[in-house]
Amino acid sequence: MTGSPRASQPAPFGRLAPSPTGPLHVGHARSFLLAWLHARSRGGRIQLRIEDLDRERCKPAYTELALADLRWLGLDWDGPVHVQSEHLEPLNAALDELIERGLVYPCVCTRAELAATLARAASAPHVGDEQPYPGTCRGRFRSRAEARAATGLEPALRLRTPPGAVEFDDALAGPQRFEPAAEVGDFAVARRDGVIAYQLAVVVDDARAGVNEVVRGRDLLSSTARQILLQRALGLPQPRWWHLPLVVDDDGARLSKRGAGFALADLRARGVDPRALIGWALRSSGLDAPVRLSATEAVHGFQLSRLARAAARFGAAELEALLAARAG
Ligand code: GLU
Repeated sequence: MTGSPRASQPAPFGRLAPSPTGPLHVGHARSFLLAWLHARSRGGRIQLRIEDLDRERCKPAYTELALADLRWLGLDWDGPVHVQSEHLEPLNAALDELIERGLVYPCVCTRAELAATLARAASAPHVGDEQPYPGTCRGRFRSRAEARAATGLEPALRLRTPPGAVEFDDALAGPQRFEPAAEVGDFAVARRDGVIAYQLAVVVDDARAGVNEVVRGRDLLSSTARQILLQRALGLPQPRWWHLPLVVDDDGARLSKRGAGFALADLRARGVDPRALIGWALRSSGLDAPVRLSATEAVHGFQLSRLARAAARFGAAELEALLAARAG
């Protein structure tokens, strides 16, 4: 069965959720464009949410840059921009609920202690570079206050991750199965400096906004299992997930904010036509599109389900093509 909309289905509500930790690059442009088109092509709404809870890594200048990049691409959004750091109350309330219901526990492990423990038990299964938390502080303290009094340290809070598999059907990546308890263990929902962790913030804010379609990069696929556990714990609805194939460079490496080049701000400064970037984004995703078109022009007939499942490439040749298209 393909996803033909039924009358009873709610109107699509998506979101663009950049983290202002660096300049956005062409991979972000493609993800945000596809998320935007997915909502707009079905008459849906879309929120812009700035995920800036990590004060050390996020900079207001990058928020400004992201807004300018999105406008340059011709993307818009409904309602005010939701800046996460300005709306901490619902996030803290969700954390309090998890604490009250005994679903999380305080943890005073430092990074160095964790690294040492994990090095001793190097055989545990893990996803990517992540090592599962070994559960050192599980059952150690009855409350945050007790953890503080006993150690003089401010504790983080970790979910008591239930054992077993979490399965879900991704609209692009297909059926998925993760075992968060074995792969990541009891994961943090609040850090030791009091910052609410991404996994918790994302489920609370999506639910509060009414987001029912999440379109984002495939690098977040395994996080989804953790988010589902939190949605279940808090009784929040599960959106439909669309995890996009990533964009890779000539070496096959995923584009990163720290990596060289391909920042949208640079392309803008070099006079690149955003319509050529949109043409690349659609064509590199296996979609039928002219070499240049505006975001609005791409809305008609857009279907995210037609997206190619392989990674898209943006390398030297693609950059050259964008620069060459400036004059015409
Ligand atoms: N803010 C996250 C990022 O930039 C995306 C979060 C999400 O889409 O769930 O990687």
